[in-house]
Amino acid sequence: MIACGRSPAAAIVALLSLACFRLPCQAQSAVTPPPADPHVAEAIQQVSPDRIRQTIEKLVSFGNRSTISPQDEESVKAGKGVGAARDWIKAEFDRYSKDCGGCLEVKTDAFIEQPGDRIKNPTEITNVYAVLRGSDPAQTSRIVLVTGHYDSRNSDTFNGTDPAPGANDDGSGTAVSLECARVLSQAFLHKVRFPATIIFLTVAGEEQGLNGSKHFAQMAKQQGWKLEAVLNNDIVGGDRNPQQDASVVRAFSEGIPNAATEAEIRRIRALGGENDSTSRELARYIADVGRTYDTGVKPLLTFRLDRFLRGGDHLSFNQQGFAAVRFTEFREDYNHQHQDVRTENGVEYGDLPKFVDYDYIAHVARLNAATLASLASAPAPPTNVKMLIKNLDNNTTLTWDPSPAATAYDVIWRATSAPDWERVQSAGSNTRATLKVSKDNVIFAVRALDAAGHRSLPVVPEPER
Ligand SMILES: [Zn+2]
Repeated sequence: MIACGRSPAAAIVALLSLACFRLPCQAQSAVTPPPADPHVAEAIQQVSPDRIRQTIEKLVSFGNRSTISPQDEESVKAGKGVGAARDWIKAEFDRYSKDCGGCLEVKTDAFIEQPGDRIKNPTEITNVYAVLRGSDPAQTSRIVLVTGHYDSRNSDTFNGTDPAPGANDDGSGTAVSLECARVLSQAFLHKVRFPATIIFLTVAGEEQGLNGSKHFAQMAKQQGWKLEAVLNNDIVGGDRNPQQDASVVRAFSEGIPNAATEAEIRRIRALGGENDSTSRELARYIADVGRTYDTGVKPLLTFRLDRFLRGGDHLSFNQQGFAAVRFTEFREDYNHQHQDVRTENGVEYGDLPKFVDYDYIAHVARLNAATLASLASAPAPPTNVKMLIKNLDNNTTLTWDPSPAATAYDVIWRATSAPDWERVQSAGSNTRATLKVSKDNVIFAVRALDAAGHRSLPVVPEPER
């Protein structure tokens, strides 16, 4: 590899680039985080720990939000059960929309789940969501989404009556979705426009078997949504145990895609693509966002679908072929989730508000909001990205189709053993680049940029003979 442009100092890089131009060699350099968008920086400052506290305390007040808890009119009126939670969330989205001049479309996705392992009777499940339509007619069909589950449970999956506060699991994730909706709709009110569409989702049925997210992801697939990214927040409460690390939030991403066909898995094996699912590229993108914006928390890239042998709503989206990651606090306390509220031998059990850290949840909400805003501001990722492999060659040539709204493209790469992108070379506005870097030794990807420096998700090339 040619050593030019390795120094991080911009001036030296510029000098070396000039030298390269004369030599000539490639104007490549170490990757840097994207420039901060002042609108995004301002919007995430509006995230409020106090609002998040109010949301979680309200959710807890419904007593038991199990999907099988009562949702008859009387219970809803009494403010108890999953139906009351559903109606309150919808009213919150409606209120945010009113506050931004009707900028949000508030919707529900309701269906009857038939009896299964954890549902004994046919049960209505309702996902509640708000849509902030993209402002650019050419890009409004592109969608990025944040989700959390508003159902809760105690020790018994079939108990729909005794307290199941679910402050952390997943009042925290529900609060993140709501708070992202509030601050980004307020940004809209202040004339900030996102070219692509953002959806703020809250689902039910997670604890009974991911039923809500499964229905929603299937709907997205059947309707042909261009869903580019899903951020699932589940247990992001920052439980106040002594081993907690409040400076990080784990960002889980699948390796081999759940939706990959046998032929695709063979191709992944042949190319060494095990570490480059679209979900993992999304996770790396989030890491970049975390370097640019001061959110108070850093994503800890965790290269695994979910916590060991466990699952969550992002899996429903992965199964439909969408890029989706899960955020979860660094260290969970199992006394504080899926537990009846009680004290035994001096140990307190139960998912109570007093165990969560509202500042931490606000930090996680900022990271989510910054990621959603960055993605929705960026041009669409380049399509038809190809690596030309007709002849054996130690150089690498990549081609791609132009992305509407893009003014430039970057080729980025990393050593096969490196977790994150290391080097970048601008292709300018060209849709073809040749690099003096061997395809044997690195993983390449191409991303699109607009004039303000917003970056798309990177796309790993397919070989073309
Ligand atoms: Zn959960």
